[in-house]
Amino acid sequence: MIYADNAATTKMSRTAIDAMLPYMDEIYGNPSSLYSFGQEAKEALENARERIASVLGCEPREITFTSGGSEADNQAIFSAARLGEKKGKKHIISTAFEHHAVLHTLEKLKKQGFEITLLDVHKNGVITAEQVADAIREDTCLVTIMFANNEIGTIQPIAEIGKVCREKQVLFHTDAVQAAGHLHINVKEQNIDMLSLSAHKFHGPKGIGVLYAKRGILLENVINGGAQERGKRAGTENIPAIMGMAAALEEASANLDKNAEKLIKLRDRLIEGLDKIPYGELNGDRTNRLPSNVNFCFEGIEGESLLLLLDDKGICASSGSACTSGSLDPSHVLLAIGRPHEVAHGSLRISLGEDITEADVDYLIDAVTEVVTYLRNMSPFWRDLVNGKRQHVFAE
Ligand SMILES: *Cc1c(COP(=O)(O)O)cnc(C)c1O
Repeated sequence: MIYADNAATTKMSRTAIDAMLPYMDEIYGNPSSLYSFGQEAKEALENARERIASVLGCEPREITFTSGGSEADNQAIFSAARLGEKKGKKHIISTAFEHHAVLHTLEKLKKQGFEITLLDVHKNGVITAEQVADAIREDTCLVTIMFANNEIGTIQPIAEIGKVCREKQVLFHTDAVQAAGHLHINVKEQNIDMLSLSAHKFHGPKGIGVLYAKRGILLENVINGGAQERGKRAGTENIPAIMGMAAALEEASANLDKNAEKLIKLRDRLIEGLDKIPYGELNGDRTNRLPSNVNFCFEGIEGESLLLLLDDKGICASSGSACTSGSLDPSHVLLAIGRPHEVAHGSLRISLGEDITEADVDYLIDAVTEVVTYLRNMSPFWRDLVNGKRQHVFAE
């Protein structure tokens, strides 16, 4: 099997699993307990917090553990909205191609009287700091823009956007779930006020993440209850997962440059190979993208059929985003970069893992080429294109 859906989730690393085991087995105490057995867990928790803070370039007390990327996004956005509301500022800027954890939270705020500006995404999948500067108003309380897109992999100019927000004194949050462990992050140097990450996207466990919030930003609880996480996130801490996340983040960060160098070569080989399929196009900028991400649209095919036939060939890939599969709507990300509906349905996302080989990539190229040709030969829609009854969207 070739697992090529690492943007959806990743296999846990041995290092992460080994870091978790003692905390499920011997050191299972509750860190809130007063006896020394609980304090052992408490020490581990604070040690993990320090290590994660050190990778992100912030202070340990600026780290809050959450149940993952979605919760961190929710908490960051709701917190900034409540702070803004107190000052009579109810305008939020984001983009049309954010993850649903951000977009659906913004929709909720819209119902509560907030005004949301979603910036247009350039067809290369990038927005500019200038667009952000132009959109900021007197009543803007938050700019939330993702670090790297989960479908098309494009990387945003985060440091520049952060600089614009700093100058205009507007809070800046970034959903860095696809970036953490894969791209260099330093919240101080990149002018980031709030950042979300999730362990299962960098070979850590599922169900655990981090919200970084710069000192002085008052967080609003999303989960209410006990006084864990300085009163900002209730619930007994998931110590095993937190230990696994810290180990995975350190490991991914230590190997980041080496992994990127290897993946970029294989990614570009894959892009070159798939580019030879007629009437298809790469989505997103060719080079300004995650080292692992390849995303194509092919005319005259359905993404779902493509995935099922690739599955028969032992390939795990994705079309659109996992969160919307099951619905017939085309990906909001592909629509945001201007792909028409009929080609947005025929998309394929391949997100490579660090263990991928050149032989795997060549197998992927052959398999996708074969399956696209097969599906087109069966498609009445494709016949119309060939007969000239319909217009092609892409060049040959
Ligand atoms: C996966 C993902 C999320 C959600 O993270 P979970 O930990 O699964 O809740 C949010 N944003 C982006 C960009 C993602 O890729």
